[in-house]
Amino acid sequence: MAKNNNKQTHKEGYCSFCGRHRDEVEVLFQGTDGATICNDCIEVGYQSLANNNLLSSTKNSPQKSSTPKGFSPDKLLKPAQIKEFLDTYIVGQHSAKRSIAVAVYNHYKRLIGTNNEQADKVEIDKSNIILVGPTGTGKTLIARTIARLLEVPFTIVDATVLTQAGYVGEDVESILSRLYQASGYNLEATERGIIFIDEIDKIARKGNNPSITRDVSGEGVQQALLKILEGTIVNVAPEGGRKHPEQKFVQVNTKNILFICGGAFDGIESRIAQRINTRAMGYGRVNTESIDREDMLRYVQPQDIKSYGLIPELVGRLPVITHLEPLSRDVLRNILTEPKNAIIRQYQHLFKMDGIELSFDNDTLEYIVDKAMEFKLGARGLRSICEAIMKDLMFEAPTSDISSFTVTKEYAEQKFQDSASTLTKQSA
Ligand code: ADP
Repeated sequence: MAKNNNKQTHKEGYCSFCGRHRDEVEVLFQGTDGATICNDCIEVGYQSLANNNLLSSTKNSPQKSSTPKGFSPDKLLKPAQIKEFLDTYIVGQHSAKRSIAVAVYNHYKRLIGTNNEQADKVEIDKSNIILVGPTGTGKTLIARTIARLLEVPFTIVDATVLTQAGYVGEDVESILSRLYQASGYNLEATERGIIFIDEIDKIARKGNNPSITRDVSGEGVQQALLKILEGTIVNVAPEGGRKHPEQKFVQVNTKNILFICGGAFDGIESRIAQRINTRAMGYGRVNTESIDREDMLRYVQPQDIKSYGLIPELVGRLPVITHLEPLSRDVLRNILTEPKNAIIRQYQHLFKMDGIELSFDNDTLEYIVDKAMEFKLGARGLRSICEAIMKDLMFEAPTSDISSFTVTKEYAEQKFQDSASTLTKQSA
């Protein structure tokens, strides 16, 4: 910074702090009494406030503590309470919900331990989670619901778009930019947020023998992920990647960020079966009689994930492993009406805003579930089938003078067939 030899204050066109002329700086801000300050001096001042923890964004922040709302030591939600909350949004998947409730409970006990200077010196490991289960069974929904409960920043990333630094695609660090943005640029909140990494199975290296069939890109991404999962300080570009090269980095410590990874791991059942069969014959026999062959996922173990192609170090950093079940007909039926924000409830709410009482015959609901089963669309299909049935009504009802409407099976069938034939014509 240039020295100010000019003793005159508020000299027009010069920074009142460093004395440089307007031409020598990028921006010169003018105060009401003619005083000016340049961009560099603002930055120096900002750094000084930040170093002394005097920034208003952190000083008076209501979330200054590293434990989120509702998670002070005396108010820590117990696993059963966490599961109860999950139950209001997610149908079935009890085993996954239980494991996650415990993992989250331990995670926040760990945070409290870290905060508490007097706490004994036992270090509790981070309980990052891996969810294994077919697509559309609620993996993202579980992660999202947990974030809602904890009131912490949450972001979802698709592992398939991640690349090693230097390759075309998104760097692994960009995950943290997104979390930082989701937190409203609050560093402290970011550092205790939750990141959901979807399709983690898609970055598995192909083949179990790294020396022969090494899938460099997949493994490179895994290595990069490993670093942030372990806990490290990462320079994060607040606005993400390359579009804003001039932006200043913020340093994010990932030590207390909870990672939840999800993947369908197609075909992993055969690896699980193989492992169980091998053990049945050799050392450490298991009783194969009692094994449910239809539902092999429930026996998933870290070694199966490893044999699928995730590097052992990464598997080691995802200690909580749990599975989601395929959605049965009964579960689909429940998803339609039971959760707090169930699809049918959402339609009823929308119509209520127009003063219309909307109801669905039981037959109609069964018909929607039948179609979802038929098209093998899982829970995701329920929404698109409902949209096809409801779209005309949603257009017409607000300008009509009806005060109630019942969606009968006949109506649903008619509308669904109409939209199916439109689709066929469009694609022909
Ligand atoms: P995944 O991440 O496993 O592919 P999602 O969590 O994105 O699946 O689920 C897709 C949609 O299906 C969700 O928005 C939700 O509406 C619904 N859904 C899936 N599983 C369940 C469930 N167990 N309970 C309630 N809704 C579910």
